[in-house]
Amino acid sequence: MTTKHRIIQVGSYAGSPTANARLAQDYDVVELWKYPDRKAALAEHGKGVDVLVTSANFGCTAEMIDALPDLKAICSWGVGYETIDIQAAQRRGVQVSNTPDVLTDCVADLAWGLMIASARRIAYGDRFVRTGGWGQVHGSIPLGSRVSGKKLGIVGLGRIGQAIARRGAGFDMDVRYHSRNKRDDVPYAYEASLVELARWADFLVVATVGGPGTRHLISREVLEALGPQGTIINIARGPVIDETALVEALQSGKLGSAALDVFEHEPKVPDALKANDNVVLLPHIGSATYETRREMENLMIENLQAYLRTGKVITPVTE
Ligand code: NAP
Repeated sequence: MTTKHRIIQVGSYAGSPTANARLAQDYDVVELWKYPDRKAALAEHGKGVDVLVTSANFGCTAEMIDALPDLKAICSWGVGYETIDIQAAQRRGVQVSNTPDVLTDCVADLAWGLMIASARRIAYGDRFVRTGGWGQVHGSIPLGSRVSGKKLGIVGLGRIGQAIARRGAGFDMDVRYHSRNKRDDVPYAYEASLVELARWADFLVVATVGGPGTRHLISREVLEALGPQGTIINIARGPVIDETALVEALQSGKLGSAALDVFEHEPKVPDALKANDNVVLLPHIGSATYETRREMENLMIENLQAYLRTGKVITPVTE
């Protein structure tokens, strides 16, 4: 009889239909989310455990890493890793992997979906038809704005930011970007000042990493520079936008519209955003397609298998 390798799984992968079953089939999984006292569970079951699987949502704190003296690899589902204490892992020599690239296209597609839904009032129009407004009201919904040929600003020109930019060519858009570093491998103009990029852009898409380094990067000043005709789109992380400033800018008309997949205090969404017809809201579904979720699951498991086979994960987080 072969004994299964024991791993710790921090949370249940509700957004990835077969991940729990695949892990349970091949490994002796300590399902941490089922224990009311995690610390006690790690003390009881963590001895000898060298791999922990998690996600950007479930994270992995320094306390958890400390509680697992034999830990060598953290394999995460998702590309963001701001909830994993990378420094604590590095101090202990623990490798961390994420699932980059496989979700890039779907997140970029969703950014475009949000942009067009906002500009052409698709969500508003859908509500209008469903609630019987069409026919009762003379005319139709307020006019939207053209997307093709407009100015697209991208904040964070990484994997997803570049995929968003590439799609801009199909809409004849002029694309510029801001990030900490200018890139030499892209055909888009770099703007060193985020406020100036916002002043220039019709649509400003946020595609940076999350975490303390980007918290409230999209400030009141940036939102007001984008202006009454401008649209902010966020598919990155909620806290990158100062949500209080966003609500105020929309209410005062200093910002035109917003289209958001992520929020500062998910799943809480401010009532003021829900009540505003110039806002499109989605429940953090950037990567939520069958194809992409399957590939994220595969890559997380491949990282785990590669670590166990070779001692090295395939897609390490490098900071
Ligand atoms: P990536 O390739 O690492 O790109 C991140 C970009 O952010 C880089 O270009 C980086 O450029 C820029 N950046 C970092 N700090 C910055 C700062 N302070 N100011 C301006 N730019 C900054 O990551 P990715 O694969 O494109 O993913 C981006 C993010 O998308 C993820 O981290 C995750 O949070 C989010 N995401 C969301 C969903 C969803 O469901 N909505 C799904 C997947 C991913 P510099 O280093 O030059 O600044």
